Amino acid sequence: MMIVMKAGASEAEIESVIRRIESVGARAHPSRGEEVTVIGAIGDREHVARLGLEGAPGVAQVVPILKPYKLASQQVRAGQATVIDVEGRKIGGEHFSLIAGPCTVESRDQTLTTARAVSAAGASLLRGGAYKPRTSPYAFQGLGQEGLRLLAEAKAETGLPIVTELMDARDIEAVVEVADVIQVGARNMQNYSLLSEIGRTGKPVLIKRGLSSTLEELLMAAEYVLKEGNPNVILCERGIRTFETAYRFTLDLTAVPVLKELSHLPVVVDPSHAAGRRSLVEPLSLAAAAAGADGIIVEVHPQPDEAICDGPQQLYAAEFAEYAEKVERAAALAGKVLSNMPA
Ligand code: PEP
Ligand code: MN
Repeated sequence: MMIVMKAGASEAEIESVIRRIESVGARAHPSRGEEVTVIGAIGDREHVARLGLEGAPGVAQVVPILKPYKLASQQVRAGQATVIDVEGRKIGGEHFSLIAGPCTVESRDQTLTTARAVSAAGASLLRGGAYKPRTSPYAFQGLGQEGLRLLAEAKAETGLPIVTELMDARDIEAVVEVADVIQVGARNMQNYSLLSEIGRTGKPVLIKRGLSSTLEELLMAAEYVLKEGNPNVILCERGIRTFETAYRFTLDLTAVPVLKELSHLPVVVDPSHAAGRRSLVEPLSLAAAAAGADGIIVEVHPQPDEAICDGPQQLYAAEFAEYAEKVERAAALAGKVLSNMPA
């Protein structure tokens, strides 16, 4: 259920509603807007209904949340976009985030060279995997803790916050220490215990859409994080499986405006993994930015031809500044401004 408070409701009235929701074992998720406060009451609907909150002081109305994803729904924030602050870089609302970096951390030189290049070109955050979800168990699986250490060094030098993937809850402490945003890969989108665990850390999390997942399933994955009291969820479209074989995945750009209709959460697009090859990355990035995405997460490498994984799709670090400029202009078409300066 959603409790919509009156425009002039006092803090005491809001607190009283929250206490009553909690008294029946439900969880209260208040969202304080500029005009009104709405409180999501998540739990047994019957119990909350029996509270009779309709007549309570300061309450304007009580309405059911019709979607199966409650906290991720547009309704629960009364149309207000969620803006996530990652060390001064804003993600969501009118902000556009350019998240760039290698597929995987390979070496100190590769990581620092890329970090310097994307930082100089105005990137908002640095991406890079230390734990890699590889199709083959015989392929390079990432540098693990050493990779995290190199990411921390790149952050210390450039100031760029870090986005890195967590695959296994056993690595959560090590990843949380270095990551400013935890990435959940497409293959783990429905790993519900991992999502709940990340939810309990409170760290911002970027959830990639599963290879064959519907948008509702993606939003239900977000719900697992949100229900633990972590509001910092970023959704990511990275291409889905279709009958088309001319390229790796079909980048579903319709997902951008549709997710924005359904949810208040920021939506970023990964053109690299969808495309699978470099020549498609720029046009897809421009289209995503112009379609209103809140950001792009893109792979960049100093020498893609020598990359350990995903070489064919990684942009040349030396060409990144030109790319970033074009993407920034496309984002401006959608009314967004690049978020690369700490507040
Ligand atoms: C990645 O971002 O490096 C990655 C493996 O992406 P995905 O989970 O979307 O395949
Ligand atoms: Mn990759």
